[in-house]
Amino acid sequence: MSDELLQAIRTIPDYPKKGILFRDITTLLGNARAFRRAVDALVQPWAGSKVDQIAGIEARGFILGGAVAHQLSAGFVPIRKKGKLPHETVRIAYSLEYGLDEMEMHKDAIRPGDQVILVDDLIATGGTAEAACRLLRNQGAEIVAACFIIDLPDLGGRKKLEALDVPVRTLVAFP
Ligand code: 5GP
Repeated sequence: MSDELLQAIRTIPDYPKKGILFRDITTLLGNARAFRRAVDALVQPWAGSKVDQIAGIEARGFILGGAVAHQLSAGFVPIRKKGKLPHETVRIAYSLEYGLDEMEMHKDAIRPGDQVILVDDLIATGGTAEAACRLLRNQGAEIVAACFIIDLPDLGGRKKLEALDVPVRTLVAFP
């Protein structure tokens, strides 16, 4: 199965800048069978369990997170780049390769004790997902797991989340 998913992911050399191999999931999303299999595989450990909210990281985490929320009969919480959400927000700063960025979610999106699964397309250094986990926990979320289609294990993101006691689920890895 992971072979099918691996083959559905397109690799773009030198995007967004020279030397980067960008893993493009739009080809997977456009392949009905691969998209369905990826979503089914992501949710499989929690089928039938009580999950209150799926938190998706902008932007590809919205596509996958919406489908995962539907499968698990959970709500969906968008985690967005700053300045995009219309109501009162909570915010967290995090490091990028060059400099800092901030992400936000609505202050009332999570109720204390909510069981939450975080979803994004790919984990690399884990900086983005770590910040999202902290933001969610600051609002009282209990993070059931963080799920990604793609792991880049050499960049250490999984270990970073596991050090925060966040179980990590990934479907394919690129060395
Ligand atoms: P990290 O914070 O783990 O270093 O980077 C992960 C974030 O960057 C995710 O939100 C992910 O969507 C994005 N990202 C970084 N590299 C790639 C890539 O090669 N392909 C895709 N689809 N997203 C990437």
